[in-house]
Amino acid sequence: MPDNKSKPEYQTSSNTIAIKQIPVDQPPSDKRSVTKIQMKQQKGRFQKIRTTMNTGLVLLFLLLPFITHGGRQAILFDLEAQQFFFFGTSLWPQDFTVLAWVFIAAAFLLFFVTVFWGRVWCGYLCPQTAWTFMFAWIENRVEGNRTKRLALDKAPWSTDKLLKRLTKHLIWGLAAVITGCAFIAYFIPARELYLDIFTFNASFWVSAWVWFFALCTYLNAGWMREQMCLHCCPYARFQSAMFDGNTKTVTYDAARGESRGPRKRKQETKLGDCIDCNLCVDVCPTGIDIRNGLQYECINCGACVDACNETMEIFGYRPNLIGYFSENALKGKPKPIFGSTKFIGYGIAAVIMFIVIAIDMNGRSDIQLNVIRDRQQLYRETTDDMVENSYTLKIRNKTQQTRYYRLSVDNPELFTLSAKQELVIKAGELLDYPVTVKANPLMLSGAQSPIIFSVSEVGHSETAVYQETNFFGPIFLASCR
Ligand code: SF4
Ligand code: SF4
Repeated sequence: MPDNKSKPEYQTSSNTIAIKQIPVDQPPSDKRSVTKIQMKQQKGRFQKIRTTMNTGLVLLFLLLPFITHGGRQAILFDLEAQQFFFFGTSLWPQDFTVLAWVFIAAAFLLFFVTVFWGRVWCGYLCPQTAWTFMFAWIENRVEGNRTKRLALDKAPWSTDKLLKRLTKHLIWGLAAVITGCAFIAYFIPARELYLDIFTFNASFWVSAWVWFFALCTYLNAGWMREQMCLHCCPYARFQSAMFDGNTKTVTYDAARGESRGPRKRKQETKLGDCIDCNLCVDVCPTGIDIRNGLQYECINCGACVDACNETMEIFGYRPNLIGYFSENALKGKPKPIFGSTKFIGYGIAAVIMFIVIAIDMNGRSDIQLNVIRDRQQLYRETTDDMVENSYTLKIRNKTQQTRYYRLSVDNPELFTLSAKQELVIKAGELLDYPVTVKANPLMLSGAQSPIIFSVSEVGHSETAVYQETNFFGPIFLASCR
């Protein structure tokens, strides 16, 4: 193996700007500005991991709406009923703090992973990457490998070219419509939706939304691809703020690879290990040359790692000229035992957020109670010298089954509830329940006495929810006391 330690011509000391001189007759290695990216399909260890994860993600997205739980779609955002069903749990708008916590926890978890593994989310789990690679795979199947696709691009229009392009766009279109349906199926029951869409029986608005998301998918995964990552995704811009010297990112080992240059197999040379085959650029979905150093366009997909390892094997060199390295590892610095401050900080923040979610979920009640006092009249005097106040109780059954409830007020020696105390409320129903409470004015502690309403499931007193309000009586009685 050649052992060339000479520095590349553009490497300078750390406090100066790195400059690479490109001769005028040499085209730039960054092909984005020159041609449309025709990514070469790559096989290898990291591509196997990525394909498996992306396939799992796509299948999960498509199939989740078909899973049922308790006779209804397990995951459904029912916008009309303003409910989110998640495997037997119903979340109402007032419960959406839980969703906010979940998003915050997910963000911290993402930051935590990013500090350690760089943009591994972008490369392996981001839907943009999954759909882009899926559409690129379809393109590769229909139009052939990269060389054939480049030739087809340049070829004049013919029946063969037209047929290939038509087939590709039809398959892309079908994949996009299925994606649009799958997305809307999280808002409208999936079985009805697919049937209605494919039998052209869906309502105007449902069809409009499906076609809108289908169009977005088609344009995004078929045409825009890396442009989304380069120009639209904010994560690409701020992810480097999370990096530290121990973050593993796809990196070219310049000290080992330079000076690059072509050679024959087994040929003795003073060059570095990079044979300048350009494969790492050809397989890159964002069209960059990782040999130019860390770039925000790199989504850490590992395609160049697999491509370069293939070349290294052919030339009998050791693998990982391009690999998942940290800056410190390349400099030979030791890794801190517990990770960096950022790593520990994001980890602690994620754990705290998961604890908050657990506490929030645990404190959540399946009964919602709101007590509204009659605003027309403070109190009424009855013929038996009692005073009565009127209230409207708004009781919601937040579960997905019909439930039986018991209504009560505290201090039953003082307050008498004149209403049926056992109620039946259907799943998800909000009951407006007018009640009257009577009290002996002589027993009241003042013109205004606190009263607590409670509602619990029959036989489950631990489910009780309470709300305190006021009971009003005559003022003169209070002042005489
Ligand atoms: S440089 Fe390598 S890891 Fe980065 S996007 Fe391109 S192929 Fe993927
Ligand atoms: S794939 Fe490896 S050997 Fe080929 S150009 Fe890229 S870094 Fe050099």
